[in-house]
Amino acid sequence: MKRVLLFYPPGLLFQRGEDRCQQNVDEGSAQAMRACNDLGYAAAILLKKGYEVKLRDYQTQGDTMEDLHRDFQEFKPDLIMMSITNTTIFDDIKLINDLKDKYDPVVVLKGALFYDPEQAMLDMLDLSHIDYMIGGEVDYAIGGIADYALKGEGNIDDVLSILYRKEDGSFTRTKFHVWGEPLDDMPFPARHLMNNALYTRPDTDEPMATIQTARGCPSNCVFCLTPGISGKCVRFRSPQNVLAEMTECYEVHGIRNFFFKADTFTINAEWVKEMCTLIIQSPLHGKIEFTANSRVRPLKKETLELMKEAGCFLVAFGFESGSDEILKLIKKGATVEENYQAARWCHEIGLKFWGFFVIGFPWEDRSHILETKKLIMKADPDFIEVTVALPFYGTPLYETCKENDLLAESPLGSDFFHSSMKGTMHLSMEEVMKLRKNILLSFYLRPKFIFKKIGQCITKPKIFFNYVKYGLKLVINLFKN
Ligand code: SF4
Repeated sequence: MKRVLLFYPPGLLFQRGEDRCQQNVDEGSAQAMRACNDLGYAAAILLKKGYEVKLRDYQTQGDTMEDLHRDFQEFKPDLIMMSITNTTIFDDIKLINDLKDKYDPVVVLKGALFYDPEQAMLDMLDLSHIDYMIGGEVDYAIGGIADYALKGEGNIDDVLSILYRKEDGSFTRTKFHVWGEPLDDMPFPARHLMNNALYTRPDTDEPMATIQTARGCPSNCVFCLTPGISGKCVRFRSPQNVLAEMTECYEVHGIRNFFFKADTFTINAEWVKEMCTLIIQSPLHGKIEFTANSRVRPLKKETLELMKEAGCFLVAFGFESGSDEILKLIKKGATVEENYQAARWCHEIGLKFWGFFVIGFPWEDRSHILETKKLIMKADPDFIEVTVALPFYGTPLYETCKENDLLAESPLGSDFFHSSMKGTMHLSMEEVMKLRKNILLSFYLRPKFIFKKIGQCITKPKIFFNYVKYGLKLVINLFKN
């Protein structure tokens, strides 16, 4: 039986399973690692096809290079797949080259970076030891690659959204911008191969499963990879199929917390209504809790109310900016007033919410960023994250930065806290970073915030401890940078 090893390498924590937010977890204000669903889906597909599969998240497990080499020596994989990120790409490739030299498996890299990539970007990478690159949906690609590479079956050109090495050493790409469906046909991630205890809800430390409910986003945000990668047409799983996966998590793995991963969970109010109603009518109601992300448009107050009734403990909004001018320029498709409205509804309903904000867009001067600070203070989310604009290759933001000579270096290797931009058209990067620090400290060190949080968790020592832990981490990171 052919053997496949799927892994995240040892090292710092990155959300390697994500396309859009390949977040640096160690430097985020209150992030926890999300489950490695990309590996889990790939494992489920490969198991169904009769491969022997090992799945390892060395980074989250805190494992070392010695652990990784031991697995290679004992398991002797015929094919390996590693998830890469924009930030770690150079180190990732160095490691892969070493593994290929030592053990000679078929090498597959998976990451959003490889989605129909610019040749100039590929030319910056040493791809001499790579056989396949998956830029699109791993679950629709990995089975076809394994069958072709390990059994000589199928036609590699039929596998969507990949690059593969030809005999002359050059890479050719298959069809991009087409997506697999329907999502209900997909097996659930192979959670029996995942160490589910590693992926926890930040406040309670309980295991939290990530469940993909939909893929795609019709919006046009200039900094976002999603519409290109997952498509502008939203593909939904049926609520029944999602509930079946939740039930398996609960009954087989004892998981009672869920992150509903969708590019925008609330985009279709009717779907959310059906999903929440199903949960409310199911035996899981009252036993499980979930979190999800949302746009502020379209959004109805009733949707948030129903989500809370079904067990939603926190909703995350990508507010991005407190300036209508900037929201327009980044093509967010929402206004500052709609940001306030979403925040007001959450306060009225008693639903905790997280606000995500981005500063350092090319057009921003100090006043735009101060408008964002004003929104943060007035909207008063339960938690916030403020990141710096990151011009990923393949986004309109990257083109704007290039045209305006705002790139200090290639976006490869940078992240949301260490941007590759020189600054905005009006501010240096140093000024942007100072404003970020000012916003985060002003928000989190307010006595009102501190007393509110103490009040919420004084009788729950675990949550209290985690708030203190994340608070300290935030302060240390801010002063370290
Ligand atoms: S709403 Fe904008 S940021 Fe969110 S997934 Fe869609 S395009 Fe990306």
